[in-house]
Amino acid sequence: MDIHEYQAKEILSGFGVTVPQGALAYSPEQAAYRARELGGNRWIVKAQVHAGGRGKAGGVKLCDSEHEILDAAADMFGRTLVTHQTGPEGKGIYRVYVEAAVSFEREIYLGFVLDRSSQRVMIVASSEGGMEIEDISAERPDSIVRSTVEPAVGLQEFQAREIAFALGIPTALTQQMVRTLLGCYRAFTELDATMVEINPLVITSDERILALDAKMTFDGNALFRHPHVAELRDKSQEDPRESRAADRGLNYIGLTGNIGCIVNGAGLAMATMDTIKLAGGEPANFLDIGGGATPERVAKAFKLVLSDQNVQAVLVNIFAGINRCDWVAEGVVQALTQNPVDVPVIVRLAGTNVEEGQKILAKSGLPIIRATSLMEAAERSVTAWKNDQSQNTKLRAI
Ligand code: GDP
Ligand code: MN
Repeated sequence: MDIHEYQAKEILSGFGVTVPQGALAYSPEQAAYRARELGGNRWIVKAQVHAGGRGKAGGVKLCDSEHEILDAAADMFGRTLVTHQTGPEGKGIYRVYVEAAVSFEREIYLGFVLDRSSQRVMIVASSEGGMEIEDISAERPDSIVRSTVEPAVGLQEFQAREIAFALGIPTALTQQMVRTLLGCYRAFTELDATMVEINPLVITSDERILALDAKMTFDGNALFRHPHVAELRDKSQEDPRESRAADRGLNYIGLTGNIGCIVNGAGLAMATMDTIKLAGGEPANFLDIGGGATPERVAKAFKLVLSDQNVQAVLVNIFAGINRCDWVAEGVVQALTQNPVDVPVIVRLAGTNVEEGQKILAKSGLPIIRATSLMEAAERSVTAWKNDQSQNTKLRAI
């Protein structure tokens, strides 16, 4: 789960990371009012969206007067911001953060990520902050410092000092840099984050180390341990299909193809998507409905998958181990009887009570296309989708 910059800054400041003074606003007038409260004569107005690259996309504006703040904020509110991280659909701006502007001497990149190969938290830092890390690694790979943390002891002061030296932090500021690194590491591990990124971390003209930007991502499976983090969720920033699924306890990832998938088990769901591609189709989603594919869950899954307008065929692939194919088949029949669908439905059942399951599907009288192997199911889905498409085109042509 992602959170907003202002939320990440609040969390990190609780762990000893220094951040600029700022305040949140929900309207241009409130933004101007917040600036007055903050005082000073220069402010930054920042669109709060779950994506980086806002600066280049017009989502970060430096303002010298209340008038400029009103204009900058009015321009942002209600707009969708498209950055290189949002995808072409962009993200809606419903909150802006106003900060007292800071003048700085240097920008540093600082990131904490989970490194899969070493299975450890890795600190990635660069003296070339301000640019995106992808650009830094393309243009100035020599400036990147990487350091993995030994989990048994956590980030040690000496290791943090080494990173500070490698970045060329002035000696007088080493202690502040160490505090920043240790604070981020503690926030990362104690809150089950999967990513903490400060870009830029700056050295100000008055010799302070300050996080000008902050991004945090959390492990969704660990959110139950951190209710204060969980409540920072902002559904306006999520793919609506995925929010709906999460609210219904379904594990769903929206994709861009047109063959919807309803599968039990994450591994089988991945294999199903691969097989659809192998058969020449494109999956519309990943969906794991879990082991207990009850009629209710199957019905919910159909609703969810079909809420995607791009879906032109649905492939149901259930392997019943603990579950039973006859129950799943009943679920499919119930779901399709109560909410008839207007796209071809392909069902492949395997495992416990498969014959009974097939009989239930056959007796239902519903136009369900049955398949025995996964490959056959994928091929039939692709054929059904193509037929459906040409029929639709013909209808439209008439
Ligand atoms: P991002 O583009 O989404 O990563 O947003 P950032 O928060 O990183 O802002 C983009 C850029 O705006 C930063 O790299 C800074 O160069 C600049 N910026 C942000 N805050 C300040 C500030 O307080 N003072 C000044 N001078 N520049 C700032
Ligand atoms: Mn940034």
